[in-house]
Amino acid sequence: MIIMKFGGTSVENAAAIEQVAEIVRSRQKDSPIVVVSAFAKVTDQLVLMGQQAASGDCESCLQLLQAIRARHLETAEALVETGFSKISKRVESITADLEHFVRGVAAVRELSPRSSDCLLSFGELLSSEIVAAALAVRGLDSVWVDARECIVTDAMHTRARPLFEATKEHLQAKLGPVLVKSRIPVMGGFIAATQEGIPTTLGRGGSDFSAAIVGAALTAERIEIWTDVEGMMTTDPRLCAEARTIRQISFNEAAELAYFGAKVLHPATLLPAIEQNIPVYVLNSRNLKSKGTRITAHAPRSRDIFRAITAKTGVSMVNVVASRGLMVHNFLRSVFEALDRHGCPVDLVAISEVSLSFTMESKRLPENLLAELEEIADVTCEDQHAIVCLVGEDIHGKPGIAANVFTTVAKAGVNVRMISQGASEINISFVIKESDVPQAVRHLHTHFFPNHSAQVGATAAAGEARRSRNATGGRKANGSHSSSEKIRKNGLASASRSETADGGVKEPARAAQVSAAAVLTVKRASGSRG
Ligand code: ASP
Ligand code: MG
Repeated sequence: MIIMKFGGTSVENAAAIEQVAEIVRSRQKDSPIVVVSAFAKVTDQLVLMGQQAASGDCESCLQLLQAIRARHLETAEALVETGFSKISKRVESITADLEHFVRGVAAVRELSPRSSDCLLSFGELLSSEIVAAALAVRGLDSVWVDARECIVTDAMHTRARPLFEATKEHLQAKLGPVLVKSRIPVMGGFIAATQEGIPTTLGRGGSDFSAAIVGAALTAERIEIWTDVEGMMTTDPRLCAEARTIRQISFNEAAELAYFGAKVLHPATLLPAIEQNIPVYVLNSRNLKSKGTRITAHAPRSRDIFRAITAKTGVSMVNVVASRGLMVHNFLRSVFEALDRHGCPVDLVAISEVSLSFTMESKRLPENLLAELEEIADVTCEDQHAIVCLVGEDIHGKPGIAANVFTTVAKAGVNVRMISQGASEINISFVIKESDVPQAVRHLHTHFFPNHSAQVGATAAAGEARRSRNATGGRKANGSHSSSEKIRKNGLASASRSETADGGVKEPARAAQVSAAAVLTVKRASGSRG
C-alpha cells in the first residue's frame, strides 16, 4: 500500500485533477491512499474570509465565498458529467455550512484558533470530495473518507500534533474495510480532529504531515508527495540553469536544505514516515514519468561531493564586540540570554575571544534586541546578506573540502564574511553579500556538480556521443541573471569588517531537528512506539 499526496497546484483546476486521476491509475496495483490539499490559494482565501468576517466586513467575506463556491462547482462540472448532481449537492452543502459558519464569525466578530481550524477545514473538505468523485467517474473505485474521523490530534489548534495510537486505531477502522475491497480512499490532508471530534489543523502546509502520519500508521510501502516541481534540486534553477533533480537524499540533508532556504517541503513533517524507514518521494504531477527525489533515513553516496547548494537571502549579520571589560563567559551568557528573551531564531554563530557574530533573517530581527545588546557591547548590524549552504553527508571526515569550496568562491571574486561548519560535517555554510549570491552559486554549482549527463545517458546515446565530442565536455556558459534579485536598502551603518572565519559553533540543523524532535516527543508521549 502506498500514500499519494497531491498539493494545491496539483489539484488547482479540472485539467490538473484529470492528471491526478491518470497518476493514480498508474499506481492502482500498489493500493494507493490519496491525500489532497485544498485547491491552490483556497486556504489563503479562507484565512482572508476569517479576517473579513471577524472585522465585521461580512459583505467582502460572502463575495469571496461565492467565488470559492463557483470555482469548485465549475471544476466539479468539468470533471464529472454523469453524477454531477450528486457532487454538486455535496459542494452546495459544504459551502452552505461554510456560509453559516462565517456569518456566525461575523456576528460575534471573533475568530479563535479553534474556529479558525474549523474555517480552514472547508478547503480540504471540498477538494477531497471533488477529487474522489473525479476518480470514480474515471473508473477508479474511489471512496471519500473524512480525514477528521481518521487523524486524531491534541487540541493545540492551528498546529495540532497527532496522537499516534488513537490515529492508528481510527485509520485502521476507517480505511481497513475500504482497502480490503481494493477501493481507493481519498481524504483531505491538513485537517484532523481531537478525541472529542473538534476539527483541528496540522499547521500550514500540513498535508505532507498528513501523508506521513497515514503512511506511518498503516506502514505504507512508500509515500509519494506530488507537487509542481521535479523533486528537490541541486540548487535553485532560477539562480543556475544547470540545476538538476537530486535522485536520493537523506532525511538530515533534506532537513538542512529546508532550513537554509529550499522551499519544496518541510522534511520535519515527514519524520513519522522516515522513522519507520518508509521512503518518501517528491514528484512532479505535471510529468507522469517523473522520477523525483527519494528521501530516506540514509541515502547512498552519490558521485558528487555535495548533495545541494542553497542560498537564503534577506539575512542580517550582527556583530557584537564586548566593550566594558566583561569576562568572556559573562559576555557570552548575556548575549545568549538576550537572544533567548527575544526568542531569536539565530542561523549561524561565530565566536572569538571578545566578539560574537550571528545571522538572522532580517525581518525577524527585533529592533529592541540590538538596543539591549548595545548596553553591554558595541553592536553593528548589516542587512542584505545571504547564507550560502552546501549540504552533503559524504563530506564527513574528508580533508580539503572546505579549501575546495572557498577557493571556488574566491575564483568567483566573492568575499566571504562569516563561515560555519558544524562538527557533524553535514554542511559548510558561509555569509556573503546578497548581491553576490548568483555569482557564487553559479561558480560553486559548476564546480561541484559537473555535468555527468554524457555519462548518465551513455548507454542510450553512445553513438551520438561518439559522433559529437561536445557531448561530454561542452557546457554552455550560464547567462541567467537574477534580475528579480531585489536589492534592499542598507539598514544600519555598515560595520567594520568582521571576518570571523571558522568559529562555527552552532549546528545549523538544530532548528529542523528540534521541530523533528517535537514530533518524536509527541509520538513517544502517545505511546505509539511500542
Ligand atoms: N491547504 C493547506 C495550506 O495551504 C495545507 C497544505 O496545502 O498542505 O496550508
Ligand atoms: Mg504544500
